[in-house]
Amino acid sequence: MERTIAARHQNSVLLKKMVERSLLLFVLLCCVASSAFVVSPFVAGPRFQGVLRAVEDTAEYEKALSAMTAFSNRYVKLSDTTYCSEKSVTSVVIRGLAEHKVALGAPLCPCRFYEDKQAEAKDGYWNCPCVPMRERKECHCMLFLTDDNDFAGDATDISVEEINALTRDQLAAT
Ligand code: SF4
Repeated sequence: MERTIAARHQNSVLLKKMVERSLLLFVLLCCVASSAFVVSPFVAGPRFQGVLRAVEDTAEYEKALSAMTAFSNRYVKLSDTTYCSEKSVTSVVIRGLAEHKVALGAPLCPCRFYEDKQAEAKDGYWNCPCVPMRERKECHCMLFLTDDNDFAGDATDISVEEINALTRDQLAAT
């Protein structure tokens, strides 16, 4: 009996891990696809030339990453939410926000596809924290999770160093 319970527990842990990995991959692909849309001159077209220069400025990106990390650490507490138990998810999303901050001047949500990112950033609806998050605590990026979410962890803090360490391998693998 005890062995059956232990086996069931182990199966559910394994299942949870698999779902977490799939989620991470999904968020990662969304962010990478989203970034590629901004930074690729072949896809984005000449109107994004200024954007390309901005993204390539490492000092500016580091400053934006630091600002978006500080914002996330503040907002997660303010909204009474927590980060995902898989902090790679958190890291990829914050990185995506920082890239958009540099590229577009606003932290446009990195988990969505946009026909025109600059127009969306100007509109503001999907600038983080987006309207669904502010009104209903809905974060489809899984950056800010309410405690009824199966993937909500305990952490309300993440550092730039953690983000860099957790995204370096993930991005290199894509
Ligand atoms: Fe994206 Fe909204 Fe979540 Fe910010 S709060 S990461 S904009 S879904």
